[in-house]
Amino acid sequence: MFRVEEGYELKNKITPAIKALIDEKDSSDPIYRQFIVNEKELNILEEEIEDPIGDDRFSKVKGIIHRYPDRALLIPKRDCLVGCRFCFRKWKLPEKNTELTEQEIYDAIEYIKQTPEIWEVILTGGEPLATSEKKLELIIGLLNKIDHVKMIRIHSRVPIVAPEKITPKLINILKKDKPVWIVIHCNHAKEITTEVKRGCKTFVEAGIPLLSQTALLEGVNANVEALDELFRKLITISVKPYYLHHCDLVPGTSHFRTSIKQGQNLMKALRGRLSGICQPTYVLDIPNGYGKIPIGPNYVTYDSNEDIIVTDYKENQHDYPPISKDKKA
Ligand code: SF4
Repeated sequence: MFRVEEGYELKNKITPAIKALIDEKDSSDPIYRQFIVNEKELNILEEEIEDPIGDDRFSKVKGIIHRYPDRALLIPKRDCLVGCRFCFRKWKLPEKNTELTEQEIYDAIEYIKQTPEIWEVILTGGEPLATSEKKLELIIGLLNKIDHVKMIRIHSRVPIVAPEKITPKLINILKKDKPVWIVIHCNHAKEITTEVKRGCKTFVEAGIPLLSQTALLEGVNANVEALDELFRKLITISVKPYYLHHCDLVPGTSHFRTSIKQGQNLMKALRGRLSGICQPTYVLDIPNGYGKIPIGPNYVTYDSNEDIIVTDYKENQHDYPPISKDKKA
């Protein structure tokens, strides 16, 4: 079982953009809940794991995690601009700047070069878009020279927590030959400010498609109204909701975690109420590195004759194909 080291101090880490959003007098504020330390984080459950999605098992060379055959994660910077209290790498995020050295970047790129099944490279972190411009430029430049790498994906919270970092210079660094897709981590409609809209517009106008990932969090967004508002708002700034993550078994995060049943019921409630384009896939990272699976509600079941029954968004059931029982008999 995970134990908090003696003397360990829980510390807030926020950016000016997040500070401006937090209602400091209201501990139920969805931004406050995400970023401000809570004593409940010291309540560690037996089933919680320090490395909940099994990164360590798949770490090949420094900075590379290669779990699925056709994708590799590249972590240029292990620290982050903020400290999300539910972060799945929370107990591993260093406080100080920990960028890969130039030599480590070359070594990581060499691994990708020597592994032809890697079709997509995902820059993640920490915060990849807070990597120094020089090193980011080096990484993107080197990846662009590898034939078998067909796309670059970047997982980032910069558009939300530090949108001022989205500049023409950053666009120039990212825009080379290979397509770049950015997946923004956004958990509540309140995070989408005018400055966030501006940043997303800059990416979209530069031809960089945007997706989002959201962590399902009790006390932040685990209700139909909050998710409905968030996913609609994302679409209006040209961000396609991509994943809704079931909260990982990170030590000290049980106060954020819903049950899977609760998550499925929320997805069911959103099905009839939200346009398909606003709907993300509800996913679970199986603990210990067995990968991500969709866990949304099931709309297809079988009767005792193995005939298909489908359930509509109002929870009514129908035979598929719609042959009358008399005819079947
Ligand atoms: S932005 Fe992502 S990596 Fe950084 S603390 Fe939050 S969840 Fe963790």
